Amino acid sequence: MKNLSYLFLLLPFSLLLNACTEPAVEQTEEIVEEIEAIAEEKSDAIPVVEIEAGAFELPSLNYSYHALEPSIDALTMETHYSKHHAGYTKKLNKAVEGTEFADMRIEEVLKNLDLSNAALRNNAGGYYNHNLFWEVMSPNGGGEPKDGAFKEDLMNTFESFENFKSVFSSAAGSRFGSGWAWLYINKDGKLAIGSTANQDNPLMSGLEISGFPILGLDVWEHAYYLNYKNKRGDYIDAFFDVLNWDAVEAKYTKFKEYKESK
Ligand code: MN
Repeated sequence: MKNLSYLFLLLPFSLLLNACTEPAVEQTEEIVEEIEAIAEEKSDAIPVVEIEAGAFELPSLNYSYHALEPSIDALTMETHYSKHHAGYTKKLNKAVEGTEFADMRIEEVLKNLDLSNAALRNNAGGYYNHNLFWEVMSPNGGGEPKDGAFKEDLMNTFESFENFKSVFSSAAGSRFGSGWAWLYINKDGKLAIGSTANQDNPLMSGLEISGFPILGLDVWEHAYYLNYKNKRGDYIDAFFDVLNWDAVEAKYTKFKEYKESK
């Protein structure tokens, strides 16, 4: 009896469905359009994230959230950029408001800040580090640096590209907790690899490493955990597939030229 009443309940619905054949087709077309729109959105759209105006602006990405897949998944990119990086930018703006730092370039802020000022240290670092991070990745990245002064210096310093990769990966893999791995130009003008904790970087004064960063890799769990879970090593390997060597080389060249001009 129970089963029978169930059928009676279904009957009006099946009649309704038959009567609605035409709108159902329209509805299907709408759904197809929506799916196509999502697919299109996924193709090339450069994300736009607006934050309150302040001394520092959130720079736009050069690529869409999904552009670095499969190395970096779209959801990680979206969260990392629109939440974490935007958050550091907003908090940095709050920290510098009404202070001498509001009129400085971010590099000067980092060089001059007091390490005991946690709000400024964390957020100025977070702002600069992520600016650099997005810049040194590209959907067309990977491979090795092209021939030239930078590659020659890299080879002379680390003997081979494979050895460079291994030393850098080990700095990134062995950083305990949250932090960054760096390829930087040290005080003697030589290429060096190191890592720093939290949002610190080699531009800050008084840290264990000091110099000008030309390549940074974020090893905070927020940078990889959604896709790689606890496998930081797999994330580090995948980073090399999107590494934008042209951007790294451009930073190297610009810094060397600046030093020579002084
Ligand atoms: Mn990060």
